[in-house]
Amino acid sequence: MPELVFFSGTMDCGKSTLALQIEHNRSARGLTGMIFTRDDRAGEGKLSSRLGLVTDAVEVEDGQDVYAFLVDHLSRGGRADYVIADEAQFLAPEQIDQLARVVDDLGLDVFAFGITTDFRSKLFPGSQRLVELADRIEVLQVEALCWCGARATHNARTIDGEMVVEGAQVVVGDVNQSAGQVGYEVLCRRHHRRRMTAATARAAALSPDTLPVPTA
Ligand SMILES: [Zn+2]
Repeated sequence: MPELVFFSGTMDCGKSTLALQIEHNRSARGLTGMIFTRDDRAGEGKLSSRLGLVTDAVEVEDGQDVYAFLVDHLSRGGRADYVIADEAQFLAPEQIDQLARVVDDLGLDVFAFGITTDFRSKLFPGSQRLVELADRIEVLQVEALCWCGARATHNARTIDGEMVVEGAQVVVGDVNQSAGQVGYEVLCRRHHRRRMTAATARAAALSPDTLPVPTA
């Protein structure tokens, strides 16, 4: 039975690497995938992983009907044996419904990869719809770690290393950003709630406030 599978996790948990691995394994068996993505760090029409691998993909646009796109592709003699949708958190809920229709009406497996929650720990609309519709949800086993060593379950947005909790839901940035730019960092829930990033934890550790004060 074809399935809609949602591979979910935080940033930096190896989602795109797994997407590329699935693509590699299936193409090695002579299968052809249709790869969708949106706002990949490598630029438009690319699916890339942090490990440096990259492949071409179809950039999903606002309002695009991905089911109709596939039907059109197949009716022109194009091939698609399965579908990969990376950065699926950036898709609209309607586009997730269209992916479910690809499974049900075209009989193709759809593997969707996405971050579950945004920097305020709220579900992305696309991820919410995936949780509602997926046949199966896989939480990725390559665990990202917080600076404290605990399992990182939350995404923080940072500016100069300081965690921010206001702003638009989607601002494309990356881990390891330079000064003044929006960056992202994965944290455990405790440190997300305390807004304590690696940089602020380091600064606090160096602050004289926290050093033992000799009593007179
Ligand atoms: Zn932590």
